[in-house]
Amino acid sequence: MAANRLVVVSNRLPVVLSRSNDDGWSIQSGSGGLVTAMGPVLRDRGGLWIGWPGIATEDCPDEGRLDNLIREGAGQSGYALKYVYLNKNEIDMYYYGFSNEILWPLFHDLFSNCNFDPRYWDVYQKANQKFARSVIEHTDDDDYIWVHDYHLILVARELRKSRMYCQVGFFLHVPFPPLDIFLKLPWRFEILQALLEYDLLGFQTFRDRRNFLDCVRALHKCRITGRGQVMNIAMPDHEVRVGAFPISIDYKEFADFACSQEVADQAWIIHENLPRRQLVLGVDRLDYTKGIPERLQAFDDALARYPQLRRKIALIQVVVPSRRDVEEYERLKQEIERLVGEINGRYTEVGWTPVHYIFRSLSRRELVAYYRTCEIALITPLKDGMNLVAKEYCASSVDENCVLILSEFAGAAAQLYPNAILVNPYDMQGVADAIYEAFTMAQEKRRERMRNLRSQIRKNDIINWVNSFLKAGIAKNLSDFPHMELFVPKQ
Ligand code: UDP
Repeated sequence: MAANRLVVVSNRLPVVLSRSNDDGWSIQSGSGGLVTAMGPVLRDRGGLWIGWPGIATEDCPDEGRLDNLIREGAGQSGYALKYVYLNKNEIDMYYYGFSNEILWPLFHDLFSNCNFDPRYWDVYQKANQKFARSVIEHTDDDDYIWVHDYHLILVARELRKSRMYCQVGFFLHVPFPPLDIFLKLPWRFEILQALLEYDLLGFQTFRDRRNFLDCVRALHKCRITGRGQVMNIAMPDHEVRVGAFPISIDYKEFADFACSQEVADQAWIIHENLPRRQLVLGVDRLDYTKGIPERLQAFDDALARYPQLRRKIALIQVVVPSRRDVEEYERLKQEIERLVGEINGRYTEVGWTPVHYIFRSLSRRELVAYYRTCEIALITPLKDGMNLVAKEYCASSVDENCVLILSEFAGAAAQLYPNAILVNPYDMQGVADAIYEAFTMAQEKRRERMRNLRSQIRKNDIINWVNSFLKAGIAKNLSDFPHMELFVPKQ
């Protein structure tokens, strides 16, 4: 089959619309793992991205203005964009409700954070139908449709209902939960059946795929064959291929940027202002899955039990604002700020503050400068699909004299475990011990481990991820898709 374009479908477009002072509206590139991962791929190869522009229909500018803005966004991004309108009710029920109050916590094993409000399901289905309609409108049968993440599980089901039989792949960026947790979902049959409508299902790790196959075995009577990277599930009318494809980063871009003069200058400023101490870095979106309070308590414990660390170490904790209008997230922010205040109140001395807390989004230059400067990365999510920050940190650590402390429940641990210090984020004393171990690790050992980590990530970069998914999906490489200069977006 001759796939001609790569079409990405995700909840959010890779742009953010916001009101500005001059002409009322502006559009900027979005942030987050998926944009970081797919942006360079679509820019280099051309393609189309379908998604929601992040603003309710009721608040949107008129259609003509929105079209112009999206065209401007496509110009900035370097690939075509098509938007799906969502109204306030859909945003509440499909996005905040079903996606983020049910699937997000459940898939992160945090069952007690779920709110199984039965009203959410109906709107989740309707919103998925909208995305599917946009796919039907803007694609051909020979395009390869690549649907992303837990918001859009039903898209293939809706395409099939409309008799659209193009090749459709799905990648789940978050973990897939074990059977006993998945079984608690009131819509477990529907969700599993909908996943089985795809031609290819991609998970972050073999553990996620094993969890999914356990659920298929328990809830469906179908034959599962094969072994290795891709396995097959025989459905009555088609075959579903199921694989583990750990997402990655544009290694070269991070490594090259970390060597640039502007990053070196910024890194120098950080060093000059925080001299004679090792810097420990945490970078997370504001989210309860990231384990930020637990990490702060572990850092507190390290300062209490290893007094030799005082004045010699400082934690730089970056928290990127997210879902601020959700009460639970606001409470989490307050909890983090209370703990930072407590630790600083207890230990601060003239010339030394133990925790530097940054609550904002950083520019790429600042972020990479922190990656390059900090001797220790402390990445301790309670559960995470992959955690791109861990990989970006290693790629940017061009001096290699540094240590990665990583949660065993981050997807990245499956690849990075031999050379990172793995920790259980719930074991605060264990994390504190790991901080001490990293602090005292000999330079030679640090360099050897970091060199191995960087080599692992360089060999398994973002292009490798896309290639392995496409190879499994349609036996094609990225090089089989036309280059940007040959690509004419459909209007
Ligand atoms: N990031 C960002 N701005 C910041 C800090 C981080 O855009 O101020 C990016 C970071 O480079 C990374 C992404 O946010 O690519 C976070 O991805 P990760 O997989 O670690 O977590 P997620 O937020 O997707 O759960």
